Amino acid sequence: MTNTDFFVDTQSNVTASFNPAASVAEFIQAFEMPPSVDLWLTLVDEERLELLEAMAIDLTDDTVESLANVLKEAADLLYVSTGLMINLHHFGLAPTDAAADEILMMLTRVVAVVGEDNFAEAFRRVHASNMSKLGDDGKPVRREDGKVLKGPSYAPPVLTDLVVEAYGSTSHAPGYLVG
Ligand SMILES: [Mg+2]
Repeated sequence: MTNTDFFVDTQSNVTASFNPAASVAEFIQAFEMPPSVDLWLTLVDEERLELLEAMAIDLTDDTVESLANVLKEAADLLYVSTGLMINLHHFGLAPTDAAADEILMMLTRVVAVVGEDNFAEAFRRVHASNMSKLGDDGKPVRREDGKVLKGPSYAPPVLTDLVVEAYGSTSHAPGYLVG
């Protein structure tokens, strides 16, 4: 099994309760997104920068909210990276090792802090939130380049309880998450 297979194996029962590929495939189908590598490369780039920005927390001001934001952006990055893998696979392409390694390192840092279970739960909530972007007519709302936009029923994910569970309501972010 190649790395690419891992991301597109939607039948895998190893990760029955946490299956990014199945979730993102559901999103792609619901939002009628045509296969595109360019779009997903753009999304990965956007989310990579959003996570980097979220991780640049001032150590004196690492509120639960700012740490929940790190968790949100990490889940976003896994979401669009999975979407990219699905679309690369569609065209018989593979990711570049350097880009995949960088993303893996960023996500590993976040998972090391919040724990696998909390990260999986954050991903589930981000997926539910993404699915809530459908328009009231059940149709997707899209940007010119195909990116899905938020419809009127959109509900953002709430992740602060996961951060509190991971390391309390007053503790500071471990040094290896930030900086
Ligand atoms: Mg984001």
